[in-house]
Amino acid sequence: MTRPTVLLVEDNPVNLELAKDVLENYGFEVLSATNGLEALEAAEKAPPRLILMDLQLPVMSGIAVIERLKANELTAHIPIVAVTAFAMSTDETRARAAGCVGFITKPINTREFPQQVNKFLDMEVQKTT
Ligand code: MN
Repeated sequence: MTRPTVLLVEDNPVNLELAKDVLENYGFEVLSATNGLEALEAAEKAPPRLILMDLQLPVMSGIAVIERLKANELTAHIPIVAVTAFAMSTDETRARAAGCVGFITKPINTREFPQQVNKFLDMEVQKTT
């Protein structure tokens, strides 16, 4: 069974590949973007069920990308989970204020990562039923 599509936004190729591999092995359909503009385009073109957003991105910050996704009626409904190495409470506060449903800390734990992602998908399903 194919699991839902997740859009992974991550500028570090090693981190991106690792997260992609783990999620694909678990059965997720994974789309990826390495900067904010790519993320906005990908989310508009084929809205995923969930977006995993690195907050430390070049050019446009993850927070700015989240704000733009939430301001766009085509993408506002997509739940976004912030993924960051700097799990500082100020980051979390800003990410939640911008509309994130949750947080995952980097480096990811490859054994727990798919379940963490699933948990956020389940939360969204419960909200709409
Ligand atoms: Mn980054």
